[in-house]
Amino acid sequence: MIPYGRQHITQADIDAVTEVLQSDFLTQGPAVPAFEQRLAELTSAKHAVAVNSATSALHIACLALGIGPGSRVWTSPISFVASANCARYCGADVDFVDVEPDSGNMAVDKLRQKLEAARSSDSLPQLVIPVHLAGSSCDMQQIHYLAKEFGFAIIEDASHAVGASYQDEPVGSCRYSDITVFSFHPVKIITTAEGGMALTNNAGLADKMRLLRSHGISRDESQMTEPSHGAWYYQQLLLGFNYRMTDLQAALGLSQSRRLLPIIQKRQLLAANYHRLLADLPLSLPQLDDINISAWHLFIVRLDDKSKRQAVFNGLRDAGIGVNVHYIPIHTQPYYQQLGFDWGDLPVAEDFYERIISLPMYPELTGEQQQYVADTLAELLQ
Ligand SMILES: *Cc1c(COP(=O)(O)O)cnc(C)c1O
Repeated sequence: MIPYGRQHITQADIDAVTEVLQSDFLTQGPAVPAFEQRLAELTSAKHAVAVNSATSALHIACLALGIGPGSRVWTSPISFVASANCARYCGADVDFVDVEPDSGNMAVDKLRQKLEAARSSDSLPQLVIPVHLAGSSCDMQQIHYLAKEFGFAIIEDASHAVGASYQDEPVGSCRYSDITVFSFHPVKIITTAEGGMALTNNAGLADKMRLLRSHGISRDESQMTEPSHGAWYYQQLLLGFNYRMTDLQAALGLSQSRRLLPIIQKRQLLAANYHRLLADLPLSLPQLDDINISAWHLFIVRLDDKSKRQAVFNGLRDAGIGVNVHYIPIHTQPYYQQLGFDWGDLPVAEDFYERIISLPMYPELTGEQQQYVADTLAELLQ
């Protein structure tokens, strides 16, 4: 089976992890800050906080921004459930903003309409979480203008977009957001097996997230409520978690991050090749863009005739092509239906869902395999 996504592991990665295994620290050693510094350099964000998953990063990012019971958080329905769950962990209420029909990213005009309605009913959100679907940035400048006008914070869920750029700046720079979150799950752009990172330019938010990822405990005397009792002393200042990344994971991430540019270039080549191979089929392709350069985490095609999606999907799987669907709209999940959402609430997202298929996309995918995907797809769409 050709998978839809797959990690790319080299001997250098294996050596980096082995070195940590033979060192003094498997966790809480030097690899974590080294990986954080590297990601801060790559994105030009001032602070980077590594954690054990993007889900954890989203959770502590919400908490650092003061999200709690009674807060309102809006996100995209076309995302992994974690983009919405993070707000629920904090006891906040979630709502969804419909998407653009072509990119599947949060639609700025829909966001504005919803904000204007919320202003009239005095129910504006404290936080909006745009999701850079497939690795292509949302229109962050416009969302930032709306944040200024309506007074909400922004977390970019850039789980798909490590290595992408927006307006010639790396995604993660936080130019238009408070915090940006990356995922390092194996299907994503670079991996730490499990892992995530929160980037920010705000030192206060970074300090808060560092506390939250490790039990709320500080050894920094300047943060303590009384003088230190001695070298052993620490204080628990708030209720945190164990969301730490291990040094094994960080060493893998650091090694992987050295190949970020070639990985993105390879994904761009694969995307361009799909564009060539699929140009004449009855489907729409994701945009290639010079200004907003996608990391091409996913290659999502939209069938003109959505009644064929099931048969085409099954036909591709039967042919050994591990296609997938990103995503089932979050508001239609039973958990969110119990909270009052239902089919019909977000028509563009639902229509998008019904016609999409994610084709295989990962660095080691070959031109022959892409040709096979294209030929099989052409046959199934006849
Ligand atoms: C993968 C993913 C997450 C969660 O990432 P983990 O590192 O697995 O916790 C969150 N949001 C989006 C959009 C994702 O694709």
